Amino acid sequence: MRRSIVVAGGGLAGLTAARRLLMAGHDVELLEKRELLGGKVSAWRDDDGDWVETGLHTFFGAYEEIFELMRELGVYDEILWKDHVLKYTMAGGDSFEFRTAKLPSPLHLMPAVFQNHYFSIPEKLSLARALKPILFGGEAYYDDIDRMSYQDWHHSFGISDKMLKRMFVPMTLALKFLPPEEISAKIVVDVSGTFLRARDASKMGFLSGSPAEKLTGPLADDIVRRGGRIRTGTGVRSMGLSEDRRISWIESTAGERFQADAFVLALPIHNLRRVIPDELRAEGFFANLDHFDGVPVITVQLWYDRQITHIDNILFCPDGRIPVYADLGNTTPEYSVHGNSRIEAVVAPARDLMGLDDIEIVRRVSADIASCFPEATASASVVKSTVVRIPQSVYRPAPGLDRYRPTQATPISNLFLAGGYTRQRFYDSMEGAVSSGNRAADALLDRYGVASSAVNGPREVVKHPS
Ligand SMILES: Cc1cc2nc3c(=O)[nH]c(=O)nc-3n(C[C@H](O)[C@H](O)[C@H](O)COP(=O)(O)OP(=O)(O)OC[C@H]3O[C@@H](n4cnc5c(N)ncnc54)[C@H](O)[C@@H]3O)c2cc1C
Repeated sequence: MRRSIVVAGGGLAGLTAARRLLMAGHDVELLEKRELLGGKVSAWRDDDGDWVETGLHTFFGAYEEIFELMRELGVYDEILWKDHVLKYTMAGGDSFEFRTAKLPSPLHLMPAVFQNHYFSIPEKLSLARALKPILFGGEAYYDDIDRMSYQDWHHSFGISDKMLKRMFVPMTLALKFLPPEEISAKIVVDVSGTFLRARDASKMGFLSGSPAEKLTGPLADDIVRRGGRIRTGTGVRSMGLSEDRRISWIESTAGERFQADAFVLALPIHNLRRVIPDELRAEGFFANLDHFDGVPVITVQLWYDRQITHIDNILFCPDGRIPVYADLGNTTPEYSVHGNSRIEAVVAPARDLMGLDDIEIVRRVSADIASCFPEATASASVVKSTVVRIPQSVYRPAPGLDRYRPTQATPISNLFLAGGYTRQRFYDSMEGAVSSGNRAADALLDRYGVASSAVNGPREVVKHPS
């Protein structure tokens, strides 16, 4: 039977859920607050015609569902895979790297460990001791270490402090924009295990151009082609709960009511909480959402008048405030102008920087870049810059919170959640968002008695015990 479904939120999670529900033959309307689709992967052209990105986005070899989606949309080949190397640049111009080899896992890590000369043998051995739980810990172990911060876990294994400061600080800041003392050990150890277990899992790729043209645009076009309706500039603010405990309508900020058989909320967690009806907010499942908020982060793009680095890959930096960055002039061919550098940097931790004006933020980021490439930037100038502040970006995976992450099915029979914060293997990432959208759609189809495998390949559905 054809059902009417409203999806709120036009990020990757909402777009994925909408498309999957359309593929199952339902009538879908998607409501997005901004004029722009894509949420945290959104990008727009500025007055010069240059793309401004919400954030620096890389794909990992470990991803699966987003690749399946991109293959279906015919855009998978827009991912340009880079050399399998983690390169760290440092103040003063020094650098070190971990290069993996084309050997079966875990032998592929051996050259990375032995060819790295920045860390001493005892330092590397201190990390080797922790490899067993990272690689083979399993779900129960990862769940158990959610109670502690990554920093405490690191120290509990006696891993060297230099490795924490030089290698893992930029890594946790790149992962969720949080320093090691604020992030759960679970997410760092679990993600590291995923990356280390399979040879190409930590390989990284960049889109050949803007995510608006290479990912979210084609996804939205496909939704419309399948008969879905997308309304941008339509934020939702409340929902109506009927006496039989079903959602009967959702209301936009303009006061327009949308009725439907079922609803998928694919909103960032801080906005989701505002929409949940008061009658439900005290109930366990929905009350758990109060534990979450988003992490602040800033994205800065700098256009240089020349090329300051040839490195065509992601770069990490343990010094200053740009834990992860890339020269899009090298990584992203469609962004290249005369071969000049165009640095995109994640600025984190960003909490104390959010109130600074753009000029000061750009000054600090340019100084960090100059300290990593002192010679190349000596006579270079920044000719243009953009600053994007995201006060609440990905959900904050603080110690002890993982058990509160909700399933996509809720105790309300016609209400479903999607988003990076909901329960799936890849946390708040592009893969996590797509996976959550698929799971939300599958949970809905399951509830209405349609096997999700009829839409596409079989997928595990997480059911909430209602
Ligand atoms: C700086 C940065 C860098 C990142 N880098 C990477 C990376 O390298 N690799 C990776 O895999 N992931 C990365 N991520 C994470 C990734 O972008 C997110 O996990 C993913 O995009 C989340 O998608 P989502 O649909 O769950 O949420 P969102 O993208 O936040 O989508 C939610 C949507 O809901 C809309 N909305 C909000 N309120 C309302 C309302 N009231 N009514 C209607 N609509 C509403 C929003 O406008 C938004 O479009 C990065 C994130 C950031 C911020």
